[in-house]
Amino acid sequence: RAKWNSAPFLFFETEEDASATEHLQFSGQLHGALEREEFELHYQPKIDLASGRICGAEALLRWQHPQQGLVLPKRFISVAEQLGMISPITDWVLDTALAHSKQWQVGGEPVAISINVSARSFHSPGLIAGIRQALLKAGVDGSQLEVEITEDTLMADLDHGAGILEELSKLGVSIAIDDFGTGYSSLSYLKRLPINTLKIDQSFLQDMANDPRDVAIVRSIIELGHNLNCKVVAEGVEAQGVREQLKGLGCDLVQGFYISKPLPDAGFREWLSHSTH
Ligand code: C2E
Ligand code: CA
Ligand code: CA
Ligand code: CA
Repeated sequence: RAKWNSAPFLFFETEEDASATEHLQFSGQLHGALEREEFELHYQPKIDLASGRICGAEALLRWQHPQQGLVLPKRFISVAEQLGMISPITDWVLDTALAHSKQWQVGGEPVAISINVSARSFHSPGLIAGIRQALLKAGVDGSQLEVEITEDTLMADLDHGAGILEELSKLGVSIAIDDFGTGYSSLSYLKRLPINTLKIDQSFLQDMANDPRDVAIVRSIIELGHNLNCKVVAEGVEAQGVREQLKGLGCDLVQGFYISKPLPDAGFREWLSHSTH
């Protein structure tokens, strides 16, 4: 992993990066993908462990590639960032996710939506204006939107990031720290920034049933989050046992294949109408 500090936007997550040839190939094809309407969003529900009710959904981007079919974000997000395409993509994600989520209701209540914002897009000058505009256009209240960022994104420029978070919270938009526990930062930012949610990285959950060290980490994150008045979400929950364990530990929300895979809008609505959650 390259370090942020010296070169904030030259960041590679090697394990998630496209191979060199794929990178070249995708570079050409990503141009125009927005115009050709090749992107789509899949939605994954978040469940409140205490009540069993759905209390939100995360929008996850997919690229419907003409030859390769559905391409997952780890193969093209970094390419899109390097091509300077990520801000228009974020705008499209916002518009699309807000338009879809406006149609969702559970017991007459709207379902909040979370979107992922990567570093370049988060620190770009147009982010706040873009979010304000998207909310207005969709006629959706800021309280229905959550922005997920990683610690690395925030730390790329903490002073700037702090200002963005203040602006977001003025709009009523919630802020979640994604992949919590995997960053390299100190925790001191947590006490001075308006952060609403910690999302425990799935790497700590997948082996929780067998590894007491994972349980210790998960327990600590839940306690830390609660002491800071944050909700704690566990993502990547694949089994009933882990869900029960998390409930016992006082975790607030769960998300993962055990509840539902990410689904296209129509499938998600279908899921909402059948789910007893
Ligand atoms: P993330 O935000 O950490 O999203 C969670 C990933 O875990 C998603 O992968 C989701 O499909 C997957 N997942 C959910 N439940 C389970 C489970 O129970 N088990 C396992 N093994 N995996 C599970 P996905 O959709 O491939 O997205 C990967 C990453 O791409 C996301 O990680 C996020 O960082 C990024 N991403 C997704 N959509 C967007 C977007 O619209 N914009 C940006 N900038 N990044 C995005
Ligand atoms: Ca996320
Ligand atoms: Ca995550
Ligand atoms: Ca991730």
